[in-house]
Amino acid sequence: MAIRFEIIKIDPSGARLGRLTTPHGTIDTPAFMPVGTAGTVKAMTQEALEGLNVNLLLANTYHLYLRPGHELIRRMGGLHRFMAWRGAILTDSGGFQVFSLADLRKVNDEGVRFRSHLDGSEHVLTPEKAIEIQRALGSDIGMLLDECTEYPATHERAASATRRTIAWARRSKKEIETTSASEANPEQAFFAIVQGGIHKDLRRESAAELVALDFPGYAIGGLAVGEPHEISCEIARETAACLPAEKPRYVMGVGKPEQLVDYVRCGADMMDCVLPTRNARNGYLYTNEGPLHIKNAEFMDDPRPIDEACACTVCRRYSRAYLCHLFRANEILGAILNTHHNLYFFLDIMKAIREAIAFGNLSRFSSELQARLEAGHP
Ligand SMILES: [Zn+2]
Repeated sequence: MAIRFEIIKIDPSGARLGRLTTPHGTIDTPAFMPVGTAGTVKAMTQEALEGLNVNLLLANTYHLYLRPGHELIRRMGGLHRFMAWRGAILTDSGGFQVFSLADLRKVNDEGVRFRSHLDGSEHVLTPEKAIEIQRALGSDIGMLLDECTEYPATHERAASATRRTIAWARRSKKEIETTSASEANPEQAFFAIVQGGIHKDLRRESAAELVALDFPGYAIGGLAVGEPHEISCEIARETAACLPAEKPRYVMGVGKPEQLVDYVRCGADMMDCVLPTRNARNGYLYTNEGPLHIKNAEFMDDPRPIDEACACTVCRRYSRAYLCHLFRANEILGAILNTHHNLYFFLDIMKAIREAIAFGNLSRFSSELQARLEAGHP
């Protein structure tokens, strides 16, 4: 068994407290995965991630395939060894980046033809190729290639992408079963991705077909692409209800701090988002009283920490004035400290969510958190 998932408690809202065991350790769920695009969570050392108790991170197949190349990483003994990471790794299929970053992409039933955003070289990503690349990387959890749709997408457009994604899942399943497992990680598991845009009938069809193929876990893709948050949650909830209760569910690419608990209440066990890390590098910091822009002049002589209620090592030591100076002087340390705080902030919310499920007070926690975070929004 590649991964094991155990549900400890289910909240009346549908939120699940669980434990995901992978070949590289056990993760308490619901879990937030920091994004390590190119085999690095930008501005964080692996030691610093360990210090934040990160035990699962996401790496992007598209980026690693183009640079340094999956064959090089295979020769280096797989991604864990290459990046000296002892915890678990989930890799995406590369599909989302191909659809959002690559130039001149052409999709047909065979796969996606695209040009690298780095050097313009031409590549073809097929469901089989996505498995081959991720096996070379040796992640603990890989994802099947899917066709992502933009928002808004008509029913016809979403239906075509959904059916193509189902057909690609069948090919992926065959590829997984008829070819050799990852040398770097023989216990690697692959999750299928439910698509269907905001169309509930398509979500149900997509989930039913993928569940019939029996994967060890399922992702809900195509959310947080511009649709209103209420619709996003409704679709997540509806889709989660069509997935097997005993298997992990990963809602891809979400969300803002105040939204994490909403997705958890829709039944999400895993989430990932670039917001804490990307925003940190832009000087956008999350606090319990709403976000702040550290570059603003008001912080130049502010001796307080980023967030007085935050227990992270940055807030215990450094002032807003210093962080404002580092940002304005374009010093590397600014990105490092900002990223550390933002990641701590997201991970701390997830920890509080898990505790609230355990103590049976998630709905009270959720309304208090919402009120607190939204009060400070500009
Ligand atoms: Zn902090």
